[in-house]
Order: sequence, then structure tokens, then C-alpha cells
Amino acid sequence: MREELLDLYNNLYEEYGSQNWWPGEGLEIAIGAVLTQQTNWKNVEKALLQLKNAHCLNIDCLQKISIEELEKLIKSSGFYRVKARRLKNLIELLSTNPQPDRKTLLSIKGLGDETADSIMLYLFEEKYFVIDSYTFRIMNRLGLYNGKNYLELQRIFMNNLPSKLQLYQEYHALIVKHAKSHCIKSNPQCVNCALNKRCRYSIEQNKKSMER
Ligand code: SF4
Repeated sequence: MREELLDLYNNLYEEYGSQNWWPGEGLEIAIGAVLTQQTNWKNVEKALLQLKNAHCLNIDCLQKISIEELEKLIKSSGFYRVKARRLKNLIELLSTNPQPDRKTLLSIKGLGDETADSIMLYLFEEKYFVIDSYTFRIMNRLGLYNGKNYLELQRIFMNNLPSKLQLYQEYHALIVKHAKSHCIKSNPQCVNCALNKRCRYSIEQNKKSMER
């Protein structure tokens, strides 16, 4: 598996180059990780801009602001009522514990593995491989993993890849890039995909079309 995962990384890197992820810096990364739950990044950007214009991209303001005001500012990110409460809880934690560990982040209601690992990897620069729906989709189509278990797939990456922060950061970003540009959920662009020679899904589709 080590070889397959490194090959995959190299193919993606050759295709797309460095992604310079995660967007934003400092606290913005943690806020973005919460806001991006169940929405796309464009909507998150709008909410971040609203927070920025209100001078509220900082712990002090986010502690003082009312839930109602916060809901208004982050409305574009969807599920804003739930997210406003999650953000408040996260800010409360960060105000007393500026660098919590993964377990402490997960103790915040509504913060799951993916959000916690995004914060750990991109804000605190701790080596946790981030798994998301794009990772499951690509690994499944390539024929490298069939399940839906976050921690199991994370272990596969972390047990097989060299333990390097930049590699973890770049790899996840490249997976997101590939899933958005080629390995699209309902309409994968296999013909011009850099991975099509080694992809189980593409090989099976080709076989089927030859049999027709
Ligand atoms: S060949 Fe198709 S299914 Fe396979 S990784 Fe590329 S886009 Fe996805």
C-alpha cells in the first residue's frame, strides 16, 4: 500500500502542482473548518468576509458577539444556527486553551473527526491525515479502499506514508483538487484523468463499453 499511496501522491502532484492550502491563516483556519461543514468553500469565503468586515475574526469579538449577530454574519455558509453555536463553543475552548489536542477538540459538540483533523493539520501543524468524502470516493474508485470508516482509512494513510507534515497537508489538498476537477461524484472525467490507467472504476467502465 505504501507504494500505491506514494505513486498516487506523485501522480497528483505532477498533474496539479503545489496547492498552497489551507486558505487563510491563524484563527481563520479553525473558523473555516467549522463553516465548511456541509457546504462549499465559496459560501465559507462570503461568511469569512462578513466576519472580517465586522472586525470579528478574533477571539475577543467572537466571545462578545451575540449568537443572533453571529448567525447573521455567517448566514451564507448554511446551517448557520448550528454553526454559530459550534463556533462559540470552539472559541470558548481556544480562549482558555490556545492549542488543544485532538481529543479535546472532539469533545466540542458537532466537531467530528474531519473538522478536528483539519484544525490539527493546518492550524496547529500536527501530523493528522484528513479524510473527507473526496478521499473515500477516490480511494474507492481506484480500488484501494472499499469501506466508509474514517479512522480505518486515516490509519492506512498514516501507517504507510512517511510522517511528514507538508506531505500530509499537500496530499489532502491534491485529493480535494482532483475530486473537484476530475473525479466528480456524478460525472467523473475519466478520459483525460491522469489516473485512468490504474483506476479500477475507469478500467471497468472501458470493459463494459467494449462488451456493448
Ligand atoms: S479515472 Fe475516473 S474514476 Fe478514476 S480517478 Fe480518474 S476521474 Fe476518478
